[in-house]
Amino acid sequence: MFHLHTFSPLKMPLRAHWALLVCLCLNPSLLLANESITALVAGRIIDGRHSKALNNTVILTKDNKIIAIGKPEIIPKNAQIIDLGDATLLPGLIDTHIHPLMHGDDYQARHLETSSAYKTLKAFKSTQALLKAGWTSLRVMGTNDVFYGFRDLRRVYDEGLFVGPRITGAGHYLSITGGGGDINYLSPEQKVHADGLIVDGPDEVRKAIRREVKYGSDWIKLLVTGAFMSVGDNPRNVAFSAEELKVAMEEAKRLNVPVAAHAHATAGINMAVKAGARSIEHGTYLDDESIRLMKKHGTFLVPTIYVGDYYNDESQALRAQDKNDHYSNNIRATFLRQVGKAHKAGVKIAVGLDLGGEQYNPTLSARELAVLIEAGMSPMEAVQAATRVGAELLGWDHKLGVLAPGMLADIIAVAGNPLDDISELERVNFVMIDGKIVKQP
Ligand SMILES: [Zn+2]
Repeated sequence: MFHLHTFSPLKMPLRAHWALLVCLCLNPSLLLANESITALVAGRIIDGRHSKALNNTVILTKDNKIIAIGKPEIIPKNAQIIDLGDATLLPGLIDTHIHPLMHGDDYQARHLETSSAYKTLKAFKSTQALLKAGWTSLRVMGTNDVFYGFRDLRRVYDEGLFVGPRITGAGHYLSITGGGGDINYLSPEQKVHADGLIVDGPDEVRKAIRREVKYGSDWIKLLVTGAFMSVGDNPRNVAFSAEELKVAMEEAKRLNVPVAAHAHATAGINMAVKAGARSIEHGTYLDDESIRLMKKHGTFLVPTIYVGDYYNDESQALRAQDKNDHYSNNIRATFLRQVGKAHKAGVKIAVGLDLGGEQYNPTLSARELAVLIEAGMSPMEAVQAATRVGAELLGWDHKLGVLAPGMLADIIAVAGNPLDDISELERVNFVMIDGKIVKQP
């Protein structure tokens, strides 16, 4: 029979006791205790909370958390020191509107040509690149995949098989027949799986939401109006009926998942805000009443401005390029003014790219901050939109979005000061996620 005995140094003979003390002193794991602390040394810190950069130049991390922020005196002996020179340390960036399984600018066509597995592998590559570009948290806003590749992607990261960004979101966008998530350019006799999840009527809406939650979506994404990038639907049309929207909201609430409402048309925005959507995606035709309602209901706005510029300047022509051109030439300026107005009125605005995918350079994601500045935010407010406000939208503000003791160690750095030149964020040269360094200068 095997017995366990309680070990007590006090019951040991004196000589043995001394031997134990010597032993403790030489125990390499104890000597190395402070070496498990990492000290990040930089010129300044944008912590996501204060309105000015802090000249506290050191962040200490241990395991996956920030344990202290302060002057160099706080660095313990034997800490691993990473001196980033005159760099700026910031919280990891949060993209609250991304479609990582879309690959190829003309995403509806590519959807028809590729399997779920292929899309997921492409998304693995693109999310790795996003992480290295400084984007440590992603909210997937439905993605053009018949199955739930997004869940498998999240799973391999959560299980620690690979180090990747934190992922939350919806597997699909729910769309009406003929809406922004349907394939509207094939002949009527063709039977295809659309890129979105097509639902008509309250029963189908309810069932789709149950299915989404069953397969791992922790957000519900509704295409409440038509869209700009898809073929054959109109962003000025409201898609869902009031009844369908009501059922969607009730079902999501019952299953305890928030709703993100894609809405361009004014009536669609206002209807979704009143029905209880947590965020309005795009909000292109928001009017003063929309702003008033969003402020009243605490609804977040994710204006996804840069995507329109991207489809103008950087991408191959879309099959629906005419809609994007119309937006760029006739609507963009007014939209930016309204976004500025909403920000001034106190509407919470988060950063979302509405891109994602292997075809685009993830460093371009920082340009959403540049257009938010163009819309009237200060550089600091734009950084906060991409960090603290994004975390709040995701319900992760207790652990992410600001640099403070106790928060998870998702930390990035750029060589210069992004408050002087926001394009510095296109050149992130240090990335730590969950305390692990994935990129260093
Ligand atoms: Zn989108």
